[in-house]
Amino acid sequence: MSTVVLDGCAVVTMDGERSEYATGHVVVTDNVITAVGPGSPPPASLAGAADGTAVTRIDAGGCLATPGLINTHHHLYQWGTRGLAADATLFEWLTQLYPVWARMDADIVGALATGALAVLAKSGCSTTMDHHYVFPRSGGDVLGATIAAARQVGLRFHPTRGSMDLGASAGGLPPDEVVEDRDAILLASEAAIEEFHDASRQSMLRIGLAPCSPFSVTRELLSEAADLARRAQVRLHTHLAETAEENYYCAEHFGCTPVDYLDSLGWLGDDVWLAHGVYLDDAAISRLAATGTGVAHCPSSNGRLGAGICRTHDLVAAGVPVGLGVDGAASNEESSLIGEVRQATLIARSAGGPRAMSVRQALALATIGGARLLGRDQEIGSLETGKLADIALWRLDTLAQAGIADPVAALVLGSRPPLELLLVNGATIVAQDGLVTAEEQQVAADSQAAAAALTEGR
Ligand SMILES: [Zn+2]
Repeated sequence: MSTVVLDGCAVVTMDGERSEYATGHVVVTDNVITAVGPGSPPPASLAGAADGTAVTRIDAGGCLATPGLINTHHHLYQWGTRGLAADATLFEWLTQLYPVWARMDADIVGALATGALAVLAKSGCSTTMDHHYVFPRSGGDVLGATIAAARQVGLRFHPTRGSMDLGASAGGLPPDEVVEDRDAILLASEAAIEEFHDASRQSMLRIGLAPCSPFSVTRELLSEAADLARRAQVRLHTHLAETAEENYYCAEHFGCTPVDYLDSLGWLGDDVWLAHGVYLDDAAISRLAATGTGVAHCPSSNGRLGAGICRTHDLVAAGVPVGLGVDGAASNEESSLIGEVRQATLIARSAGGPRAMSVRQALALATIGGARLLGRDQEIGSLETGKLADIALWRLDTLAQAGIADPVAALVLGSRPPLELLLVNGATIVAQDGLVTAEEQQVAADSQAAAAALTEGR
C-alpha cells in the first residue's frame, strides 16, 4: 500500500454540497481517496509506516486541489491536422479534411493520439473520451492505437468505436472512400467491446459506440448501433445539432429536427450523450431533459467553426446533463480542457448576461458533469472519500495568479496556472507542470512526423 497526502491546499470538492476548504487536505491510499477535509490531515494518515504503508506528504500550500477534469468529446487523431481550412464552415472544413484523414494508419494515429493526450493531461484532464470514426481500409488497428496511447500517457479512457456508412453517392457528406459497410461496422463494434470494455468500478477503459452524425450515417446504422449498445450495456454518442446546415439537412432528408430524428430511432436516454447541441429549440431541450440525454458542450470548437452558441444556461436550468469537450484539435487548435472551462464561462455570459454561468458552475461541468455523461459519477468527478484518486493540483502562487483571493475565479478566469500534480487512479501523470509518463520532446517530434505523413501530397 502507498499513501499520498496533499497538505495545506485549497480544496474544491464538487461533492453534493459543493464543499470547499480554504486550507485543507486530500489523502489518497493506492488508487482511492481516503480522506478529504479542512485543516490538517488525520494524524493516522501520516503514520502509516508501522503497517508497511509508504507515506508521501506533499506540502501543497499555494495550490488548489480539484477533481481531475473530464473531457467528453474529442477526436485524438486530429492532432495532426491543426491549422487546415482555417476560415471554413463545418461542411467546408469536413469536405477538405476527409481526404487527409483517409491517409491515416495505426502508426500515425498512435503518435498523434499520444500528442493529444499529453496536452490534455497537462491541462488537468484525468479522463477523456475519444470519438474515432475514420477507419481507412488499409489503416490497421487505429482504435487499438488510441488505446495503447492512452495506456502509455496514463489517462482514464472512454474511446468510442465511431463509424460512417453514408457516402456522398448515397446522399451523405463524406466521400465514399472513407465510409465503411454497415455489417462490418457492427462486427467491429462488437469485437471492440469484447476485447477492450471493462465495466468494473475502477475501470481505466470503457468502450462506447458512436456513429458520426446524421449526415454521415444511415438510419439503419443508428438503429442497429443502439440495439448493440444496449445489449452490451455500453454508452452511445454522436454529433448532433452542431450547425444550422445540419438542421437544414435533417429537415430536407428526414422532415424533422435532429433531436426528433434521434428520438424516432430510440436514441434518447440516460445512456446517450450528444456532442454540441447548439441548435436546440425549447421542445428539444425539454425532450433531452425528460430522457436524461446529455450534451457535451465544446465552446472553442463552436467558435472556431462559427457554428453558434450552445444554450448551456437553458440546458442546465432544464436539468439536462452537461459536460465539456475540447472536440478534435482540428477545430479547437489548443485542446486545453481548463481552457474550455474559461471559454464556457465567457461564451455563456456573452450570450446570456453575467449570471448565465458562474465560475463554479463551469468547473462543475468539467468535473462531476462530465462524469455523469460518461456514466462514472459514482466513481470520479468529485473529491470524496471512497472515490477514485483522479486529482488535479493547480499552483496558484506564481506571477499569473498570486494575489487573487478566490482560487476558483483564479483557475477559471485567469491564465492557465502551472499544474503541480495530476493523479489518475492514484498514479502520477504530471508533476511540476511536466508530463512524467512520456518524454515531451519525443512526443512532439513523433507528432510532427505523423502530421507530415498525413498531410503530405495534400
Ligand atoms: Zn467532434
